[in-house]
Order: sequence, then C-alpha cells, then structure tokens
Amino acid sequence: METTLILLKPDCIAGRKAGEVLKRFEEAGFQIRGCRMFRADPALLREHYAHIADKPFFPEVEKFMQSTPVIALALAGDNAVARVRDLIGPTDSRKADKGTVRGDFGVDVMINIVHASDSNENAQIELGRFFQPGEIFDYEMRYHTRD
Ligand code: ADP
Repeated sequence: METTLILLKPDCIAGRKAGEVLKRFEEAGFQIRGCRMFRADPALLREHYAHIADKPFFPEVEKFMQSTPVIALALAGDNAVARVRDLIGPTDSRKADKGTVRGDFGVDVMINIVHASDSNENAQIELGRFFQPGEIFDYEMRYHTRD
C-alpha cells in the first residue's frame, strides 16, 4: 500500500472537473485519506516546484497555480504512485492519450489539470508539505453503497 499526493489545479477547479477527476480515482479503487482546499502562496509554490523554479516558464506557472484555490488529495492504494501517474498521463496534455485525465481535460504542458507525486519518496515529502499529520486519516471502509 502507498499513499500519493494529488493537487487538483486551477484549470480543474475552474473547469468544474474536480468531481470527474476524483470519480476516476475512486473508480480505480483508491481510498481518499485526506482532502484540503487552500490557496497556494508563492513560498509554497517555490518549495513544491523547486526543480523548475529557475525555468523561464516558472513565473507563468506561479501565476496559473495562484489563479484559484487548489485541492490537495491524499490517495491510498496498491502501487498508488505509479498507478495514479498512469491514470493522469504525461505532463504535456497534448501528448497524453485519450482516456487519461490530462488527455481528456488538459490544455497543454502547463494547464494540465493535476499534479501527482512521481516517486514514493517524493510522495512522503509532498504529503507532509500539504497536510498536517492529523489531516491524513487511517480508516477501514466497512459500510458500502449499493453497486
Ligand atoms: P509533472 O507535473 O508532470 O510532474 P514537471 O514536474 O516537469 O511535470 O513540471 C511541473 C509543472 O510545471 C507541470 O505540471 C506544468 O504545470 C508546468 N510545466 C512543466 N513544463 C512546462 C513548460 N515547458 N512550460 C510551461 N509549464 C510547464
């Protein structure tokens, strides 16, 4: 079992696709362990995007990521990091297959609907970045809906 960190980005929020994207994750069997909406401030973005902070496109990414609040999700499941990355497709939405989240809803390489951790090690760091320890829950799912 792994837990990975997802961000529903401003294009997802503004395009009213949060429910659709979360539905895909739930239907793939992932458990929601945490969910939080907040505005990403410049300091947080600089930390989260340290690996691209010196790129010429970074100011545009900063502006984009602050254009609406975002939603962070902690999702758990077998091999969650790799499986979620497969479900969302590659960074550039134009190169993502139809049927993937980015392929179906993303616009381009920046406006690409979601962030998802790219390794288990980064997932641990990113979960700690966006959630307080008490905001990630460990629980059993005993009662179910009708199928
Ligand atoms: P990923 O989000 O798929 O892990 P990266 O870590 O490389 O991809 O990039 C972080 C984010 O920065 C991307 O999701 C995207 O929003 C933005 N980005 C990446 N490359 C570019 C680019 N060439 N031009 C504009 N924005 C970019």
